[in-house]
Amino acid sequence: MDIKNLKCNACGAPLHLDGPIQVATCEYCGSTIALTGMGWKDLKAHSMLIPQVIDQGGAIAACKAWMDRGFLHHGTFDKAKMIEAKCEVVPYWIVSTSANTTYTYQDVKEQAAMMGAGIGAGALLGAALGNRGGTTVVPIFGMGGQGAQRSATIAGNYQFPVIAVRGLQTYQPKEYQFDLSKRIPYDKRKLPQGLNVLNGDVGEDDAKNAAKSLVNQLESLKAHQQHRMISKLDTQVTVGDSELLHAPVWYLKFQLHNGKSEMLVLDASRNAVMNVPPPTK
Ligand SMILES: [Zn+2]
Repeated sequence: MDIKNLKCNACGAPLHLDGPIQVATCEYCGSTIALTGMGWKDLKAHSMLIPQVIDQGGAIAACKAWMDRGFLHHGTFDKAKMIEAKCEVVPYWIVSTSANTTYTYQDVKEQAAMMGAGIGAGALLGAALGNRGGTTVVPIFGMGGQGAQRSATIAGNYQFPVIAVRGLQTYQPKEYQFDLSKRIPYDKRKLPQGLNVLNGDVGEDDAKNAAKSLVNQLESLKAHQQHRMISKLDTQVTVGDSELLHAPVWYLKFQLHNGKSEMLVLDASRNAVMNVPPPTK
């Protein structure tokens, strides 16, 4: 099929596609088609988020407020100069994934305690059962020969966002989830005028594969945040349904006082920075 002459299935308007597009939204009626193994198909599960900040000043203020909430760059952005800013409505594949990770680690503290005055079992148990950051960590007490070798499991469910635009993959979030409770069926008329709505060139199957490997990395990161000296890390990721979400995103490039520059990617639907870890406090 000649992609240049492709027409919208719903209203018949020309789609003016250029290049290897995999997901296209009609600029007249908002219908979306996606390229599948069976050709172009209407995409029913297509939603969007509405921006809260649409002016540059608001976006900069939101970034600075985010940074000032205890992030380690605290103060860095006070003197930072904004050198580039743009807002676009970017397609993401939201992929339902669930993951189960098991690993073993050396419990250094316990080892030290055992060498000292014996095991404070109650205290250790309390610390180990703590629920950190929404992920349930269940330690499995295997004393083994060394005493301090333990196993743990991490279970996580994600609505993992995969950027559907290859050219923007540098900004793929590693650990971010949109507030999907705020999403509404896609309707371009509900977006502020003049915002650029991007088509995607990443297909749904590729997005599912990407989500699988990104969730793998995230689970490993979580394990390493919990414990040191990890071995035998094994993650099973199950990928479920996916849907397309158009989300308004600000790209803000700041020149820092040390001469370096940093790009912040702001989810304009809830004023959260997506490409750096959230503040710990
Ligand atoms: Zn149309």
